[in-house]
Amino acid sequence: MPLPPPILTDSCYKDRLFDISSPDLIPEHWKGTPFEGLINAHNFGMGIQSTGQPQLLIATCIEFRYSLPVPRMHAYVLRRASGRLVGSEFSVAYAIAKGVRHLALIGHNDCGMTQVQPNRQGMIDALVEEGWHRDRAEEFFDYHAGRYSITDELTSLEREYIRLKRLFRRLKIAPLFYSLADNKVFVPQWYLDIKARGVDPTELSVADEELLSIT
Ligand SMILES: [Zn+2]
Repeated sequence: MPLPPPILTDSCYKDRLFDISSPDLIPEHWKGTPFEGLINAHNFGMGIQSTGQPQLLIATCIEFRYSLPVPRMHAYVLRRASGRLVGSEFSVAYAIAKGVRHLALIGHNDCGMTQVQPNRQGMIDALVEEGWHRDRAEEFFDYHAGRYSITDELTSLEREYIRLKRLFRRLKIAPLFYSLADNKVFVPQWYLDIKARGVDPTELSVADEELLSIT
């Protein structure tokens, strides 16, 4: 599968991201936190020294073109299609109970979950080959497609950030955006705008209230 172009040449994203091109450009409120170490590892090749205690929860997509630069004994990791955590709130609660206070929520460009419907027939056929009845496979796909399908990766990341801030009010959440071709992370501009305006993210609305449902 080919890589998409460098993200700052892609008109879909280039004006919507902040480029952390040197360590001093990491947002000030993330410095001294596990987010700083994660960004330094991603963008500047610095190793992460594990303390033997879980420092971080990382949530991201299952995307095979992306691997995380973290050592063992450092982070809990949740990887789900699109990177959204709908249905994985129990895992978040577990990580918090184990002392984790920081969640890196990482979206990426060229996400397959923007192409769920074009994959409908292929996925249903795959389930049928796995022994499912076709009716059941179609029903399964149509139920779950709505939960996993996204239209824009950055907008989806924003909505998930707000949803999770409402559910976990003390948890520090850093939304990051990974570029497949650049192999580095960027900061969504919408996040910097929220911070600059001093807005409480739990007061923001998400378009689809159903996303707040834990079921
Ligand atoms: Zn993806």
